[in-house]
Amino acid sequence: MALTPEQLDRHKRHILLKEIGGPGVQKLLAAKVSIIGAGALGGPCAMYLSAAGVGEIELWDGDTVERSNLQRQIQFTEADLDKSKVDVLASRLKAGAPDNSVRTQKRRWGVAHALSGEIIIDATDNYETRFELNQVAHASGRVLVSGAATRWSGQVSVFASGVVAGAPCYQCFVPQPPPDAEACEDVGVVGPVTGIVGSNMALEAMKIITGAGKPMIGKIGLIDGLGGMTRQIGLPRDPACPVCGEAP
Ligand SMILES: [Zn+2]
Repeated sequence: MALTPEQLDRHKRHILLKEIGGPGVQKLLAAKVSIIGAGALGGPCAMYLSAAGVGEIELWDGDTVERSNLQRQIQFTEADLDKSKVDVLASRLKAGAPDNSVRTQKRRWGVAHALSGEIIIDATDNYETRFELNQVAHASGRVLVSGAATRWSGQVSVFASGVVAGAPCYQCFVPQPPPDAEACEDVGVVGPVTGIVGSNMALEAMKIITGAGKPMIGKIGLIDGLGGMTRQIGLPRDPACPVCGEAP
């Protein structure tokens, strides 16, 4: 279907990019993405994907907005305190891009719940959900875009073990939850690093949808906020991985 004059105007800066162009915008308009977590990572990720025209965004989060969120979750304001994060973020997305569909799931995601997206974005903050999302992504042949931030550090990767032969999954990277796992509510996190991670996840999802560039499959991007550095490390698949490995 041809883009309308309004869509041509709205998405002009993406249409100008040879790696996206009109066909890429049409792929974005037809795309369905599930974002698990509507907080510091999911907020900027959802806002960039919605602005880019992603046709359907499913948001999962059971939390309400607290004052301690406002230091980094810039999609929320003082007027949103005690409201559902998913509801507030959905209305923020609809205000910017009224034609896109937003599905709201006002509860914590668990394996019993089906995800509507073709791409899964892990913007959560706990290992239990991360492991479950990885299993679902692998088993259902969907790409998992994963991000995390704590203190001054962030990381981003794309796990495609169920889609690309030889690609690692999240559990190849983190075989089991580290015993000294730190939650950001205990140790703190600097706001802009969560924005960098959320924006990077949106960027990776856009590359996967449009076919532009090379998604970060088999690589982890590391952000060091204090040092002002980013770097990439390679991540091999673990043949002994309980999710994607060769053992039954
Ligand atoms: Zn694996």
